[in-house]
Amino acid sequence: MKKDLARIVCKFGGSSVAGTEKIKNVALRVKSLQEQGNEVIVVVSAMGDTTDDLLELAAAVGNDLNLREMDALLATGEQQSAALLALTLDKIGCKAISLTGWQAGVKSDSNYSKARINGIDTSRVEKELSSGKIIIIAGFQGLSREGDVTTLGRGGSDTSAVALAASLGAKRCMIFTDVEGVYTADPRIVKDASKLRSISYEEMLEMASLGAVVMQPRAVEFAMLYKVEVEVRSSFNLEPGTIITEVANMEQQRIVTGIAHDIKCAKIGIFDLPDKPGVASLIFNDLARAGVNVDMVIQSATREEHNDIAFTVCSDDLPLALPVVEKLVEEIGASGMAYGDKVAKVSIVGAGMQSNPGVAAAMFAALADENINIEMISTSEIKVSCIVDESKIKAAVKALHKQFELEQING
Ligand code: ADP
Ligand code: ASP
Ligand code: MG
Repeated sequence: MKKDLARIVCKFGGSSVAGTEKIKNVALRVKSLQEQGNEVIVVVSAMGDTTDDLLELAAAVGNDLNLREMDALLATGEQQSAALLALTLDKIGCKAISLTGWQAGVKSDSNYSKARINGIDTSRVEKELSSGKIIIIAGFQGLSREGDVTTLGRGGSDTSAVALAASLGAKRCMIFTDVEGVYTADPRIVKDASKLRSISYEEMLEMASLGAVVMQPRAVEFAMLYKVEVEVRSSFNLEPGTIITEVANMEQQRIVTGIAHDIKCAKIGIFDLPDKPGVASLIFNDLARAGVNVDMVIQSATREEHNDIAFTVCSDDLPLALPVVEKLVEEIGASGMAYGDKVAKVSIVGAGMQSNPGVAAAMFAALADENINIEMISTSEIKVSCIVDESKIKAAVKALHKQFELEQING
């Protein structure tokens, strides 16, 4: 890297590249970042709803379960926008080159559809940078050791960007999106949500894991691990965004930093399980083996040597989980099972909660005031989550935002 140049990685999400006009806007922005004396690496998502459209095409063929081929298909979306951006930059007189994930050296495991990056060979990118080019990399994709194309899970371009920033020793990773930063709640639901000036890695990781799609959780993990400073900001204006970093000054004074919600939840209950050692282990081992991530678990009090277990999974995993549970019901001798995907999770997140008792009680009270029934609860040091009926989720997010006076945070 030339001494006087700062290296930055910027990522533009789907809505930022949805159409050639928007791609032109990105090109001008990237050009100006280069003119300010930066070495610029750009990571792009697929245009607009392209990934969803590709998923629909596969569903129309009637086979979206061959995950290897699904990844080969989905990866094309990002390649399209990378090449289009390179063409647009070329047209406005900027030297640029587009690279697929694998041309850029992004290596992953072979867990198709949710692969994890396990290394990046930056030699090609370094070579292209040294000739003064802007490098455009297709996000969301990698190459497995077997030489197959993989994708990194929905929102995976965020992770491509942060991982590249870490590997390339970039000064900053900028995530350009359709909102101005990270807010105290999804600004599409809470109109007076506040933009946070900064948020700690830990809190952002919780927010993202609990449903705030503005960053993929894995991207935050990478940022935390490799100490990459990330800024989330708007593609459409020049307002400063939110810095995701180590403990930010204001954080200590906040008890609750944000409200996250997730509608991709499903609930499964197994009834009248024998109350003896090894039953829970059997259930959750089998689910893990089937690749199902279990989230909250509740076991009821024992009655007549039997009890019930209920748990939640991501609704995308429901088709994987159901056959496993149905088989277990037979094996273990439970009386039956039930499931539903009309539930959602609402969470409060804040580092300040650790030392402030009564926060969970205030959360439950706010939900009760709105007549929202809580079906399950889980807590950790910096979050409390409740499962509620999906139809109540917006009301729940709004009530909690109000309860913790988050419209007044000026982060
Ligand atoms: P991109 O296509 O740029 O990756 P995403 O749709 O993945 O964009 O992420 C941006 C969206 O995240 C916003 O439009 C917003 O609705 C949603 N979002 C959810 N929670 C938050 C939050 N706390 N702060 C900001 N945005 C949030
Ligand atoms: N295009 C992929 C998705 O829609 C990856 C991304 O946008 O980050 O999830
Ligand atoms: Mg995204």
